[in-house]
Amino acid sequence: MSDTLFERIINREVPADIVHETETTIAFRDINPRATTHVLVVPKTRYRNVAELAAADPGLLADVVNTAAKVAELEGVAEAGYRLTFNTGEDAGQTVFHVHGHLLGGSSLGPEARPPK
Ligand code: 5GP
Repeated sequence: MSDTLFERIINREVPADIVHETETTIAFRDINPRATTHVLVVPKTRYRNVAELAAADPGLLADVVNTAAKVAELEGVAEAGYRLTFNTGEDAGQTVFHVHGHLLGGSSLGPEARPPK
């Protein structure tokens, strides 16, 4: 299996603005931010999506969520509130198939999806 972009960031082969790192996770700013705060929270072990991560290693999923909460504190959005989303598959717009949470915050985010037509 060839490396995804995020493995290359984890291995420091591609530069990124890293805001926090633990033994099992890394968090860096999204290159194309869609909120005042937009940080990607990534487990260092690769799973395709959050469901595969939860099934294989629930402790690692907890590490991802705990890292997101820590980053929310560091970014000063923990109190006002933030969103943590895991795009899964085509309809959600997933483009990198190494599971990652989008931590979004810094202003009111509005609804998370459009109503059905
Ligand atoms: P997805 O669409 O898979 O849920 O999220 C992938 C995210 O990676 C997108 O929000 C995109 O802007 C971000 N991204 C793509 N290429 C790079 C890059 O080279 N560096 C960083 N920091 N983020 C990237």
